[in-house]
This record gives sequence, C-alpha cells and structure tokens, in this order.
Amino acid sequence: MNKRGLLLVFSGPSGVGKGTVLKEYLQSHPNTAFSVSATTRKPREGEIHGQHYYFMDRQAFDRLVENGGLLEHAEFAGNCYGTPRETVERNLEKGIDVVLEIEVQGALQVKEKCPDALLVFVMPPSFEELSRRLSGRGTEDAETVRRRLSNAAREMQAAKQYDYIVVNQTVEDAASQLEQIVNAAKHTAKYLSEFIDEVEYDAETCCK
Ligand code: 5GP
Repeated sequence: MNKRGLLLVFSGPSGVGKGTVLKEYLQSHPNTAFSVSATTRKPREGEIHGQHYYFMDRQAFDRLVENGGLLEHAEFAGNCYGTPRETVERNLEKGIDVVLEIEVQGALQVKEKCPDALLVFVMPPSFEELSRRLSGRGTEDAETVRRRLSNAAREMQAAKQYDYIVVNQTVEDAASQLEQIVNAAKHTAKYLSEFIDEVEYDAETCCK
C-alpha cells in the first residue's frame, strides 16, 4: 500500500491534556515517530535535550531558520519553537508516520506547505472543564490561571481550520478517537492515490 508515512499535526490549548493523549496513542503505535522540536525556551525540571526538545540559544535558532532547517517555526509565550525538517522528511520517506505537537501558527504553516498533512485539534469537553483542569493544577495563582484561560480561548479560535477535532473527555477515549481519525485518513483516495495508480497500471497492462 502507501509507502510514505502520514504527517500528523496535533494541537490544542494548554491544559487540555494533548501531551497525555499523544503519549497514550504513541504507546500503541510503534510505527509513529514524535518530532522533537527546537526551542529557545529553558529546560523545565526533568526535560532532556534531544528527547523533549533540542534546547538552544536564539542565535542557533535563527541560524536554523536562515538555513531552511525548519519546516515551520513560531513564537509562543516569548520563546521560539520550530520543527526540524530533515528528520520529519526522512521518517516519512521510510514509511514512518510523524507527529508534530505544535501550536496553531506553526500548524497552519504546515497545512500550507504540506497539503497532505492531517491536522487534528484537541478540545476540552467544555470551557468550564478546561478552567477546572487549569485551576486544578493548584500550582498557579489566580492571575496566571486567568491569563492561561484567555490564551486557551484565543488558541481555540483556530480549531475550525483543522481537519478533525478530538474531544478529551478521558485520555483513553481521546486516544481512541485519534486512532480512528488516523485510520480513516489512511483510507482516503487521496492518501492511497499511488497505490490506486499501481493497481490501475497492472490492470491495464494485464488486459491489453
Ligand atoms: P511548552 O513550552 O509548554 O513545551 O510548549 C508551548 C507550546 O509550543 C505548545 O503549544 C507546544 O505544542 C508548542 N510547540 C512545541 N514545539 C513546537 C514547534 O516545533 N513548533 C511550534 N510552532 N510550536 C511548538
């Protein structure tokens, strides 16, 4: 069937639990690679260079941009983030699916550059639930929670530009919705066009 992997772009507001959903999905889909992004943000406790992010200073990040080394890049909360192009392309060529967990500006750049990419947005079951989840962390003051909620509301305005929506009521259910979406995407005539061409070619040569 199709030899090229599927490029999956996964976004959602902070606090919606997209990282957890993705982790659950990746555990049962070993032929899917998580794309490790470059960022100028400082590592948080427990984050490992090369595993969670490629941490770098602004100069190194700008050099990557200038050399065309990033598939997309954007600024978010005062830091730069970008997707290293080469690893993504190498994996797709090998037939490995690639997941980008990125914010909306970057996702829309990918949509323009790679029309075959599948864009999936994670929504909370309701805004009240998102608010509960963000406040429930209990680590932030009221002003930080308010700012996060207002950012989340802004990010969710882009949801209609995505191909599919996953509603994260529970992690298991959301990961299963994602699996169904990816399966469906892999059965579109567009995704399987090379395969259809091959079969049609064989049919034509056989029946000549
Ligand atoms: P955090 O700093 O919390 O890890 O990530 C902040 C935001 O940046 C999240 O929405 C995350 O999905 C997004 N992000 C992570 N990597 C990239 C990337 O390579 N490109 C873009 N555009 N956004 C990214």
